[in-house]
Amino acid sequence: MNPDHILATYPILLSPATPEALERLLVDNGIPVARAEAGLCGRHRFGIHSRDEIDFTDRFGVSHAIAWQELIPGAMTVEAIDAELARSECWAWQENEVTIDESIVRGTFGDSVVERLRNRIRSHGVPWIRLAPWPAGFEGVFNFRFDLDEPDFEDWRQVVRIVDSAGVEPGVTWFLSTRAASRIPEACSLLAGRDVQSHGHWHHCHASDPGLNAENIARADRFLRSAQFRPTGFAPPSGRITPDLAGHLARYEYRYLSGLGDLSGSLPRTDILGLTHIHAIPVCEGAFLEAGIGDAETVVSGYMAAAARAVSRDRPIFWFGHPDRRLGRKPEILRRLLSAASEFGRLWHVGLGAYADWFRARNRIALTVASDERYPGKLSLQWHSSSRTVPEPVIWIEHEGRRWPVVCGGTSGQASIRLDQRHSTPIPAALPVPECWPALPGNGLRSVIRTALDWERETPVESLRGGPLARRVKGFLRRSTDKAWQARFAPLAWPREDRTGERAA
Ligand SMILES: [Zn+2]
Repeated sequence: MNPDHILATYPILLSPATPEALERLLVDNGIPVARAEAGLCGRHRFGIHSRDEIDFTDRFGVSHAIAWQELIPGAMTVEAIDAELARSECWAWQENEVTIDESIVRGTFGDSVVERLRNRIRSHGVPWIRLAPWPAGFEGVFNFRFDLDEPDFEDWRQVVRIVDSAGVEPGVTWFLSTRAASRIPEACSLLAGRDVQSHGHWHHCHASDPGLNAENIARADRFLRSAQFRPTGFAPPSGRITPDLAGHLARYEYRYLSGLGDLSGSLPRTDILGLTHIHAIPVCEGAFLEAGIGDAETVVSGYMAAAARAVSRDRPIFWFGHPDRRLGRKPEILRRLLSAASEFGRLWHVGLGAYADWFRARNRIALTVASDERYPGKLSLQWHSSSRTVPEPVIWIEHEGRRWPVVCGGTSGQASIRLDQRHSTPIPAALPVPECWPALPGNGLRSVIRTALDWERETPVESLRGGPLARRVKGFLRRSTDKAWQARFAPLAWPREDRTGERAA
C-alpha cells in the first residue's frame, strides 16, 4: 500500500463502466491508464468513470474523477471513437496551390477526446505524461509506402534501384496489387526479400459489396503466399476503407491496415478486433502530376509541408507514392524526397508491419508515476511489461511548454526525475492545417448512377456475375462496354492500355 504522502498521478484509473473504446484510444495515445479492480489500494489522483457510478472515488481512493461523458464533445457518442476508424471519407484541400482530394480517415474525434482529457489533467498543474509514438534516441519515425498498382516493370525496377542506392529499405513497404503483379513474370523476384504486403488483387475497394472485398483480399493473399511473401498488412486501393475490411483481414490474421490519414498525419489506432490502423500522410506525387505539375521542387515541397505538420504534432512521417508511371518516370522526385526526409532529424526507418508490432508491445507497458508531497517537483516512474520492447520506448513528461524524455528499457525499471529546465526540450508548436472540405460526388444523373453502382473498371468481369443487383448491373455494363472503352486509350502513351481511368492511390 502506498503511504499517505505518496500519490499516484498515473495511471489514470478507469472505472468498470468506462467504455473499452475509450480505453483503447487512450492506450494508443500512450497515456498510462489502468482498469480499477476490486481490492486495489493506494491513492490515485485521477480516475475516469461513468456519471452514474457515484461511489467510484470512495471505492478506489481517487481524488479527481472525470466522467467519460465529459470527454465526448457535443452531441457525439462514444461509438464515434470506433466509427471514425471504420470508414474513410472523401475530403479536398490545397497543398502547395494544388487541390488534392482523397479518401482519408480523419482522427478529429479521437483527437478532441484526448485534448479534453489533457486539459483536465493540466488544469490541476499536473504534467501530461505519455509513451512516445517512436523509440528512444529518435526524433521521429519514417516509412515510405510504395503502392504498385499497374503492371509497369521498368518503373517498378527504377524505383527499387533508387531505394537500394539511397539505403532506406528498412523504412520501405511495398503494397502489391497482385493482379498487376501476375502480368509481370519478374515481379516477385524483383521484390523478393523486401517488405511486401497486400494492395488487393484488383485495384478497387467496394463501397457496399463485402463479398467482393473478401474475394479481393483472399486472391491477393493466395498470390502473395504462393510467391513466398508473408503478408500481415493490407492497404485498400484508393485509400478507401469500408467497415467490412477489418473483419476480412482478421480472418486472415493480418495485423494492420494502412489507408490514408489526416492532413497532418495520424497516430496509429487499434480497432475492436485488434487490428492496427497505420495511415500514410495523404499527399502523393500523383496529385501534382495530374494537375500538370511535374517539377520536383513543387512536388517535394508538397510532401515536406505535410510532413512538417505531422512532425509539429508528434506524428509519424509515413509517406506514400506510386512507382508506375509516376515516381518510376520522375526519379529525381523520389531521390529528392528520400534525402529530404533527413531534414527532420534522426528518424527511425521501419517497415509498417515491424512498426505495428513495436507499437502493440509499447501499448502493453504499464506505467506508474507517483509524486511525494514531501518532495515537490520530483516524480518517480516505474514501468513493467511481460516482455521487452525493442527498440526501447521513451516516456515523455510534458509540463509548461517543456518536454523531458525518460528511456523506458527492459521488462521493468524505475527512474526519478526533477522537472527543471535542464534535460528538457521545448514542445513543438503545431503548424496550421489547410482548410478542407467534403469532396462530394456530383449530383448530375451520371454521377448518381456511378455512385449507386460504385462504378469502376478494375474488378475482373468474371467476378461481377451473380450476387447483389448492383454487382450484376455493373457486370452487364462492363461486359458490353469494356472493349470499346479500352480502345479509346490504345494510341495513347499515357494512360496506357492497362490504365483504367480510376485514380491510383
Ligand atoms: Zn493503389
